[in-house]
Amino acid sequence: MALFPCDVGSHRFTGRANTLYVGLANGSFSERSRIRVCNKHSTNLVDMWRTSMSLVAVGDTTLLAEDDAPEACSWCKKPEHPWQVFVNTYIQGDDPRQYWGGACEECLPLVRQWAHLGP
Ligand SMILES: [Zn+2]
Ligand SMILES: [Zn+2]
Repeated sequence: MALFPCDVGSHRFTGRANTLYVGLANGSFSERSRIRVCNKHSTNLVDMWRTSMSLVAVGDTTLLAEDDAPEACSWCKKPEHPWQVFVNTYIQGDDPRQYWGGACEECLPLVRQWAHLGP
């Protein structure tokens, strides 16, 4: 088994990693990050994303429908939300899940921080 650094606790752990993919999109601009975490830290991280974003699809084969598009910033509920935020979670013992939310310019720095993307 490989040794992985946990992206949240910055500690090393053995075993399989849980993975979260975060995608940010605004018009033609898009950016993705991959977060690899241990079991303990993935719970906190997934809860953080889950409580701030609405779950739109379960399973990795489900396509997102236009009707599911977020109507407001998932964080502050402001109607203007130029950023689309996609989170895919691959957690041991759980089905792959996909979340779709929106973000306004004010909340973007927080979202980038959570996504482990640079400022
Ligand atoms: Zn950890
Ligand atoms: Zn906002």
